Amino acid sequence: LGSKLSVALRKMANHTVIDQEVLDAMLADICKALLQADVNVAQVKQLRTNVRTAVNFDNLASGINKRKLIESAIMTELCSMLDPGVKPYEPKKKRPNVIMFVGLQGAGKTTTCTKYAHLYKRKGWKVGLVCADTFRAGAFDQLKQNATKAKIPFYGSYTETDPSVIAGDGVAKFKDEGYEIIIVDTSGRHRQEGALFEEMEQIAAATEPDDVVFVMDSSIGQAAHDQARAFKEKVKVGSCIITKLDGHAKGGGALSAVAATQAPIIHIGTGEHIDDFEDFEVKAFVSRLLGKGNIAGLMERMKEADVDLEGAEMMKRLASGQWTLRDMREQFQAVMKMGPLSNIMNSFPGMQGLDFRESSQRIKRWMTIMDSMTDAELDDPKLMSAERVLRIARGSGYYPSEVIELLEQFKMMQSTMQKTMKKNKKLGKQTDMR
Ligand code: GDP
Ligand code: MG
Repeated sequence: LGSKLSVALRKMANHTVIDQEVLDAMLADICKALLQADVNVAQVKQLRTNVRTAVNFDNLASGINKRKLIESAIMTELCSMLDPGVKPYEPKKKRPNVIMFVGLQGAGKTTTCTKYAHLYKRKGWKVGLVCADTFRAGAFDQLKQNATKAKIPFYGSYTETDPSVIAGDGVAKFKDEGYEIIIVDTSGRHRQEGALFEEMEQIAAATEPDDVVFVMDSSIGQAAHDQARAFKEKVKVGSCIITKLDGHAKGGGALSAVAATQAPIIHIGTGEHIDDFEDFEVKAFVSRLLGKGNIAGLMERMKEADVDLEGAEMMKRLASGQWTLRDMREQFQAVMKMGPLSNIMNSFPGMQGLDFRESSQRIKRWMTIMDSMTDAELDDPKLMSAERVLRIARGSGYYPSEVIELLEQFKMMQSTMQKTMKKNKKLGKQTDMR
């Protein structure tokens, strides 16, 4: 059988002895993954040092599960990097809360303003949008269109050229009319130009925002840190929102944004649609960063999309530890039927960072490969051997390495799903007892 698969399998098997060497190997793997996810180099180094300090083999009580200890040390470290130790601003009811949005052009400010407005409107707040972007032609039209679609009152001007005047007037008007959430959308330039920052400071002076939200495109990679710091130096950034976490973006820049602004992430943007907006969950985000895949979230979304999971034979077999290639094929089929909900495929372990086209191409390839498997192979993954892999490769017209890649994906999904099932079962039992 392909060496790649057996290496992966061996890695997955539990080490009986976990010592410094294993820790270093694990840390090396994880640091590599973090760097690939665009986490800042200095932060990765810091993490390595801190985990080494946290896991001291000389001082461990016997009987402690070292693997768990290492995993939780890494998890804790990443979570603390995402926690600046301050609470985000919480809007207060029955008074105006002015929220100013800042960020580079194309970061997703205007889109995110509407998502944010929509979220609060749904919760019953009185919300208004102010367009203080006079730099980009059509900026007001864009906000107007978004706001109208979401039925949110807006303010802007086609004639006034000073954005701080518009911002001041808009905020005053909404305040007079008893609005509770007043959102100020500002302009961004391509780079961090002096003029942009001056304008931003003037708008802040004119509106006296209760919170300044820094919006950052998650795909900017290692540039995240400097960019975030530049904004922080000019205005009182109190919260961050990371956008475009649905596409190629790997998300590591989020850690930089927090480190540079010392402000917590409050939401993430996961698509262009107004509802593609999620509360920021540190643990889920870190799991995603580490490539484990957010299986719990995946199941949630499939349920929402009316894919019957509970009743499915497949789930019963998974619970009993008999999940097969045939089940995986069924699941892929169900997902493919749902169309370009790229978010869902992106939740599969091993498929993060792929866009819809890439992940659907991959799934199609795997479906073709599975078509060349026999019923027995589909029902019993243990049957797989080198000869069978070669035969399936020839039959499907793909390389043996591509068949092995599919088998690796299967292994990864199987193990993640079993873990999730076990966790859900435990949670279920706990609630039953209450
Ligand atoms: P601004 O210049 O900062 O106001 O950015 P815009 O709000 O105009 O957004 C720029 C582009 O990014 C638009 O095409 C948006 O539809 C897109 N966009 C914004 N947020 C997201 C997101 O979370 N995911 C995706 N895929 N696209 C987004
Ligand atoms: Mg804009």
